[in-house]
Parts: sequence; C-alpha cells; structure tokens
Amino acid sequence: MQNILDFSLKDLILWMEENGQSKFRAKQVFDWIYKKQKLDFSLMSNLPSNMKQKLAENFLIGIPKVLQEYKSNIDGTQKFLFQYRDGNIIEAVVMKYKHGNTICISTQVGCRMGCKFCASTIGGVIRNLSPGELIGQVIKAQESIGERISNVVLMGSGEPLDNFDNVIKFIYLINSEETLNIGQRHITLSTCGIVEKIMELADLNLQITLAISLHASNDEMRKEIMPIAYKYTLKELIEACKYYYNKTNRRITFEYALVKGINDKKESAEELCIVLRKLPCHVNLIPVNEIEENSFIKSSVNDINIFKNTLTSFGIETTIRREMGSDINAACGQLRRNYMKSE
Ligand code: SAH
Repeated sequence: MQNILDFSLKDLILWMEENGQSKFRAKQVFDWIYKKQKLDFSLMSNLPSNMKQKLAENFLIGIPKVLQEYKSNIDGTQKFLFQYRDGNIIEAVVMKYKHGNTICISTQVGCRMGCKFCASTIGGVIRNLSPGELIGQVIKAQESIGERISNVVLMGSGEPLDNFDNVIKFIYLINSEETLNIGQRHITLSTCGIVEKIMELADLNLQITLAISLHASNDEMRKEIMPIAYKYTLKELIEACKYYYNKTNRRITFEYALVKGINDKKESAEELCIVLRKLPCHVNLIPVNEIEENSFIKSSVNDINIFKNTLTSFGIETTIRREMGSDINAACGQLRRNYMKSE
C-alpha cells in the first residue's frame, strides 16, 4: 500500500486518470485531507462509495500515531513522540511564538552524523522518512493542538541533506496551495554542512532559510565535536554558504551551541568573526543542552554574553536562543532516547 501523503496533487490526478476516474476527484481528496483534516476515506462524503473503497484498497493515509505527548507548563511548547506503522518512533516539537506556531520535525529515524553533543545520533540512523511521513508529522501535530501550524523547521532528529530527495519533495509538497500552503520563507532547513548538497540545494533556488550547525570557529575545534569536519573544512563549508547566498539572496543562519571550555572563549568569538566576514548572516547562540550520555556543560551566562557582544560589535547580528519547554525534555532527541532506554 502506498501512503497517499507521498503524492502531490499531480500524482493523484495521474492515478485517477489511470484508474478511470475523473481527475477532479483528486482535488476533492486533497481538500478532505489537507483542508478539512479528515483522515479517513470513509468520511469523504462527496466521493462515490466505490471510489472510497478503491482508495482504501490502494492507499493508506500515513499519519503517525501519538505515542506520548507533553505540554510545557512554562511556555506551552508541545512535544510529540510519534510512531509510524513499522514501529519506528521519532519526535517533533511545536513551539508557540507570537508570529505563529512552529513545528520542528525529524527527517530521519536516528542520525548517522555522530555529533558528540547530540542525543539523536547515539544509535545511528535506522532509515529515512518519506515526504509523506514528514508532512504526516505536521498534520498530526496540527490536529492535536487544534491550530494551524505556519512555520516548519527541519531541525529535529536526522540530517535533512542526508535524505535530500525526500526532503526536497516534502518542501515542494507542503509549500503547495493544495496542501498546507506553508510559504518557503516559513521553512528552515538545518544541516551539519554536507557541502555538495548545500550547492545542490542552492541550485534549486528555493526561498527557504538555510541554517548551518557550525559550533566551532576552526577545523580542529570542529573535529572534536563534529565528525563531518573531517570531511569538509570550514573554508569549504563557508564557500558553499556564499554560493547559497549568491544564488538565493537568502541570509544564512549559523547555529553555535556554546559548550563550556570547548568553543566558548572570547578568542573563539573573534575567530568566528573572521570566518563569517563578508557573508550576510545571523548567528544563533544556543547554550548546549546537557544530556546524560556525555559530559558537555553549558557555558556560563557571562561567557555567553561576552561571546554575543564580541560578534555584535563586529557587526554580526546575533541572538541567544531562548530555551523552550525546558520542563519537558524538549531538546534534540532526548524523548526518543529516553523512551528507547525504558523499553
Ligand atoms: N542534522 C541537522 C539538523 C538536526 S540537529 C543539523 O545538524 O543541523 C538540530 C540542531 O540542534 C543542530 O544545530 C544541532 O547541532 C543542535 N543540537 C543537537 N544536540 C544539541 C545539544 N545537546 N545542545 C544544543 N544543540 C544541539
């Protein structure tokens, strides 16, 4: 059986034609799923019953099941542990901002990038998620919170550029008017920096925001915490970012998790200014989330402020990421990890 959420409207029109049905039926099915959130063919009351049956025989609506759900009492952040039909589990988080609800989705079950501070990568990668499985996270979360989700960040577990084709198909899918109509500028893709794929993405000339997980100001430091640094130098990565900017005219976001004693000295901030010079960008400083499996410790508030001020005084726009959902383990693969440990 195919997941109908993997289909674009065009794909479903083609299927209707191949199956001797009128093509306007495809739009009706899409409206039920994406506009009315009716996730069961039998509820699609304007379809003839033989068609409902035929759809049910050929497709499933591949929405993940909610295994666990948590809501932060501090800021309303909602965290979901989702399970797909094959039993695999992933997590997604909805954050409530003034500018709208933002969902952070996972792109793979697990991850193979091996970043030392990250809980998602500990068991390696199990498999990629399909475009329909990605959009399924958004649909299910939207149904659960009972409100529209207007922003999507590909920043949950997994490396989106390691699942390139599915992620790109997902972006086109969710961006289309017939589905959830989420503007490209409301989509952020975060990557540890797979250089060839950044170039490939640039050539598509999408208007999404590219976020780079940088976390270090030189190659040696980066190698200590991110294996991907053995494959690409910072210089190559920054070149790819410049290429991305020149193609798309979209300012790059750099994420920098501050870890006590590793990458948080004032000298690192100064070095980072040199690395990022001449590249229109924004730096998001993240006090590292401490996890059980390693001994990385958050930088002190004082060091974080010094780091920020150093970048700002150099003219680099810098923000410190607000911690969301700190009472519900909302960070980076911790929920799945805890669940797997308890099983
Ligand atoms: N693989 C992609 C997207 C998923 S990780 C990437 O590397 O960007 C999303 C972000 O969370 C990345 O910036 C990642 O480095 C960061 N992250 C992972 N574990 C973290 C932790 N323990 N504390 C702070 N940030 C973390």
